[in-house]
Order: sequence, then C-alpha cells, then structure tokens
Amino acid sequence: MLWKEVCEIFNKIENTTKRLDKRAYFIKLLEKVKDPEDLKRICYIAIGRVFPEYDERELGVGEKLLINAIISSGINKDKLYEKIKETGDIGLAAEKAKEEGKVKTLLFSPLTVKEVFETLRKVAETEGEGSQKKKMRLISSLFLRASPIERRYLARLILGDMRIGMNIPTVLEALSIYFNVPKEKLEKIYAVTNDIGLLAEKLMKNELDDKELNIKLFRPIKPMLAQLAPSIEEAIIEMGHPQFETKYDGARIQIHKKGDKVKIYSRKLEDVTHALPEIVNEIKKFKHDLIVEGECVAIEEGRPRPFQDILRRFRRKHDIGKAMKKINLRAYLFDLLYKDGESYIDKPFKERRKALEELVGYENDWRKERERIERELKEDKKIDISYKLVTNDPREAKEFYKWSLSIGHEGVMIKNLNAPYTPGSRVRTMYKFKPTLENLDVVITKAKRGMGKRKDWYGSFEICVKDKDGNLQPIGYVGTGLTEEDLQMLKEMIDKIVVKDLGDEVIVKPEIVVEVAYEEIQKSDKYPCGYALRFPRIVRFRFDKSIEDINTLEDVERIYKLQRK
Ligand code: ATP
Repeated sequence: MLWKEVCEIFNKIENTTKRLDKRAYFIKLLEKVKDPEDLKRICYIAIGRVFPEYDERELGVGEKLLINAIISSGINKDKLYEKIKETGDIGLAAEKAKEEGKVKTLLFSPLTVKEVFETLRKVAETEGEGSQKKKMRLISSLFLRASPIERRYLARLILGDMRIGMNIPTVLEALSIYFNVPKEKLEKIYAVTNDIGLLAEKLMKNELDDKELNIKLFRPIKPMLAQLAPSIEEAIIEMGHPQFETKYDGARIQIHKKGDKVKIYSRKLEDVTHALPEIVNEIKKFKHDLIVEGECVAIEEGRPRPFQDILRRFRRKHDIGKAMKKINLRAYLFDLLYKDGESYIDKPFKERRKALEELVGYENDWRKERERIERELKEDKKIDISYKLVTNDPREAKEFYKWSLSIGHEGVMIKNLNAPYTPGSRVRTMYKFKPTLENLDVVITKAKRGMGKRKDWYGSFEICVKDKDGNLQPIGYVGTGLTEEDLQMLKEMIDKIVVKDLGDEVIVKPEIVVEVAYEEIQKSDKYPCGYALRFPRIVRFRFDKSIEDINTLEDVERIYKLQRK
C-alpha cells in the first residue's frame, strides 16, 4: 500500500474535529488495505508509533536531527525554519517549505507504507558510533522520495505525534465496525496484549483465537481497576462473602519472571525494573515462572512513606544505589495472573489468591495471623502478600478497615472471590473504600507564567477532565499544594512539552497527570463543561497515570450530585 494513500486519509481525519467522522474516515482507510501486515503497520502509525504500545523502543531522533535530515533531502533550509516558526509544527513546515531544484519526486518510485515503517524501525535499531549520521541518512532517504503531504506525516510519525486525533478507542471501534466483531471482544483482547497492530493483523487473518493474543510473559497487561464502594455494608450485600484487603498506599507494579529474568512494569505499563533492584532480587528466588501484581510501598519504621517517594524513584534512571539506602521497599503482592505457562486470568479470584499463598507459604489472614503481621511491619521484608479478611460481617470488616488506616494505609479493597481477572476495566467485582471525598485525577493543559516569588517557574496550571468522546474539558486552574522542588520539576517537564506560547501562559501537550483535592464542585459558566472546582489543590503527581486514566466529566457530575445530597 502506498504511503500517499494513507496520508491523504490522515489529512481528512485531521481536518475534522468530530470523532465519528474520524472513525468513518479510518474505516475508509481500512477498506483500502489488502495485506494484514499493512493493516498492522497502519494501526501503529495512526497512533504515532512503529512499535507496539507496550514496547519501549524509541527512534532516538530529536527535532534537530529530523530537521537536518529534511534539509539534506533537498528542502530549503531558510524556508523550513521560517515555516517552523510560522506553524510550530515541523510536519507542516516540511510540507510547505519549497524543495531546492526540480520536481525530483517524479524520478523515484512512490513510497510504500512498508518502506516507511521498516526504515523507521531500522532507524530505531541503529545504535553506537556514527549512529546519528546513519539515522539521518535513513530518514533523509525517505524525505527525498516524499511528496509534500507525505512529508507532513513522515515528520510527525518520526516525532511520535501524528496530530490527527486518532486514539486507541477510536481505532478499536473502527476495527469492530469494519470486521463486524463486537467492540467488547476487541477491547478485552487489547487489554491483554496492548498491541493494536497485532490485534488488527490477527483480526484480518481471522485468527482471534491465536495464542499470541493470550497473556504472555514480558508483555504487560492492562490492570483491572476498582470502583469506589458507596459503603462497606453495600459492598457486602452485593458480593455476599467478599475478601477485604488492606489498600496499600504505594505504586502498583506488575512483575514478570521467567527463570532468572525479571521485569517490573508500572501501572502505565512502563518498564521500571531499573528502579527496584531489591524487589527483582527477591522475586528471582521463586521457583516458578510468574506474572504477579502488587503494590510497592516505601517503608520507614514500619510505616508507609509518602507515595511520592516511590514515584520519584521510578522516574530516576541513575543513582538508585543512593535512593536504596534511604527507603526500604516492600512489594505486597495481591494477584497472580500467570504461572508456569498457564494463564490464571479466567480463574476465580479465590484460586489466584490460593496460588499466591502457596508461593509465599502463608495466608496473611488478619483474623488468624494479626500478631505476626504486626510484628513484621517493622521488619525489612521485601516481598509479602496483601493482608486479607474474608467476612460478611460489616462490624468485623470495619474493624479491619480502621486497622488498615491505623498502620498508615489508605483504606480497604473489597474483592469478589468468584470473579475472574478482567484486564483494563473498572469492575464491580473489586471495590475500593477509603475515607476521603474522592480526589480527581486531571491532566495539565496550560501553564501560567509565575509572578513574584514564583517568577522563575510556572505559577498555576489549567487542569482538565475528559468528556465521553475523550475531549479534554477544563475545570479550573490550580496553583497550590506545590513545594519549590515540585515547581522546579514542573518547569523542567513543562518546558519540554510546550505546544504553543501565548505570552503569559503556554499550552502544553496533555501528559502530566495530577491528583487534586478541592473544597467542592460548583456549577459555573466559566468553562464549557459547566463545572468548576472550588479551591483545588494538588495532592500528588500521578506519574503512574496517563491521559487515558484521568477522571471523566461524568465523574464530576456524579460527585456534584452526591455533594448536594
Ligand atoms: P487510586 O487513585 O485510589 O490509587 P487507581 O485509579 O490507581 O486508584 P483503582 O483501581 O481505582 O486504581 O484502585 C485500586 C488501586 O489500589 C490499584 O491500582 C492499586 O495500585 C492499589 N492497591 C493497593 N492495595 C491493593 C490491594 N490490596 N489490591 C488491589 N489494589 C490495591
């Protein structure tokens, strides 16, 4: 398939703001694809990638290298810079800037999707001495043959930002309509594989039952998420005889182990193995091949340290040695998804829990083993399993809840013992119960330049939730709750993701997720969504979350109503 055909449809997708139209154009594109391999490539490319979503390989091409490659393919340098300044988009600039000399594209055969894709994968694999030059040559060879519109999407693909507004949910819907397969089925497979290209390829080949699409070691799976329980009593009525567990205040991790090889992924499925060497060492001691999930907690004197401490460690690529001395880590495992070649995700939770208990050799039953549990709180124990209480007695459950708070954790999880593991969805078979008015996870979309004491930083930040179409909806500005260290870190992060400078504020790529508390939600005509947060304050950064995980406008409406009650 020709690159040009894809670019022409991308252009149509880009030029409509309506999600349903985007989906319709993408279906038109699907109609043209004949080869499953091409379909795979196109699905990755539509979301700005040449590798699967879970795969962290990168092209290693910055803006400078890209610009040089474009220039060396024969684009006029001054014109290119002029257009970049005008549009703020290297893609558009590469399209609009004039080529030097004649219409050379006619001399070459047209680019295919396959060539673009494979060349960029080669770029990613090029490492070591002289790699920058080699990368540049490879990229330049593509631009040399590209027409203006092809250059636009080539440049954007290289930077990993297509700017056409396609996202995974829209691609999944389009695939579901075109191939006439229920969306829920595709969503489920997607949550297990995290690989839109592979899913599309298998779909076209009619191979959805291929074992490649099952849970697999070293391919992280999207975590099952909990709903907020209205009360302990109601959760018991709904579930019958559930298992309560301490809800630990830490960061979620998913551990994959085969023989001596161990990898640990964050909630966002990023590889954070480097940050947790002591956990890796302990996990290696298990005899089995495993995928287990847990919460990683930083502990000092038997009490959990702020959750932020762990996330800082995830972000830190070097100097783990130093960080290790300062904080003790403990991973509380709470689920098991795979053992020795067998998937456990369709098994009921009680079987998965039993496998976990067999792994460590004890149950951690709060009713029976409370004394040992309390004694071990202060010990340096790297791997544990979650504390449990299976009960249908609200009084006993509340006692366990209070105890969980008293040892410094967040609350309790309430789990249906008969439920399977449902990757990627927020289910009613797992509840969380915690004391606070629900905080909101929001994404930063604008940053105002600071004044006075904050003149070297950004002073306040526009925050957004998402509506049901996935569009971002501002609900306020937040500036409080930040230390000077936070402000400095935010400045460095924001400067890297500025999309447009408006003078007193900048628009940024929606990447930084923060958790905000607030006094109340108000009706307001200040924002198109009709709501605004009163006195929002940043409680913590959620580097473990991405834009997909932020709260929705529906959540805001629900809390607003609840508040009025
Ligand atoms: P929150 O913002 O409350 O941490 P979340 O959006 O990250 O929630 P939820 O699914 O809503 O995720 O809540 C469950 C989270 O609680 C898990 O992601 C996990 O990180 C954490 N957790 C702590 N202890 C447990 C436990 N025993 N079992 C399951 N999850 C636990």
